[in-house]
Amino acid sequence: MIIYGWNAKNIKQAPLENYECPNCQQKQSVIVIFARYVDIFWIPVFPFKKTAVIVCTNCKHETEENNIELGTKGAIQQLKSAVPIPKYLFSGLALILFAIAFFTYQGIQNGEKENAYLGDPKAGDIYFLKNDKGKSANNYYLMKVRKVEGDSLWISYNSFWYSRMTKKLDPKDGFYNIMYSMHKDGLKELQTSGELKKIMREYSAADGFDQEVEFHESDTTAN
Ligand SMILES: [Zn+2]
Repeated sequence: MIIYGWNAKNIKQAPLENYECPNCQQKQSVIVIFARYVDIFWIPVFPFKKTAVIVCTNCKHETEENNIELGTKGAIQQLKSAVPIPKYLFSGLALILFAIAFFTYQGIQNGEKENAYLGDPKAGDIYFLKNDKGKSANNYYLMKVRKVEGDSLWISYNSFWYSRMTKKLDPKDGFYNIMYSMHKDGLKELQTSGELKKIMREYSAADGFDQEVEFHESDTTAN
C-alpha cells in the first residue's frame, strides 16, 4: 500500500503592518506563506502551490487567501512570489528519478551479462524458464548446462515446478541425473520465444542449485 497525501510547509512568515484583525481589531497580524506539496510515505515528492494565510497573533484568527481584502493582496502576492520553494520539497522526486536511473542501468547491465552468457554457455549455468502455455500457477522450471562440447550442450532439468523464479531450490528438488543434448542455438531460441527469464552463473550451493535427484521412468520430465 502506498501512503500518500497533501501537506503544507510553512516557508515564510512576516509581520503584516497596519492590518486590522477582523475578529479582535488588533493590528498584530502576521502573514504566513505555505508551500503545499504531495508526499508519499511522508517524503515530500513535489510542491505544487504556494498559499498565504493571515494569522492574528492576538486571537489566532486566520484569514485564508481567498478572503483577504484587495488592498492587502498586492503585498501578499509580492511576498509569495519572492519566497523560493525549498529544494527538499523535491526530495521524493529526486529519489524516484534516481531509482528509475538505477534500475534502468541495472537492467541494461543484466541484459548485457545474459547475452554474454547465452553466447558462451558454461557448465553449471542455470536457466530459469517459464512455460506460458501451462495452465497451472506453477510454471517456472530450471535447466542446467552440464557439459559444453563445441556447439553441443548437455543439459538437465530440475524435478519441481515453481510459481516464480525461486531463489532457492526446495530441499527435495534437484537436477535430474539424466542429460539431454541440445545445440547451442537452442538457447537463443529460448530467449526469442520469451521462455527464458533469467540466466544464473554465480550461485551458492547453500541455495540448493547443486542438488541432484535420481530420474525414474515414472517421473514427468520438465520439458
Ligand atoms: Zn485577532
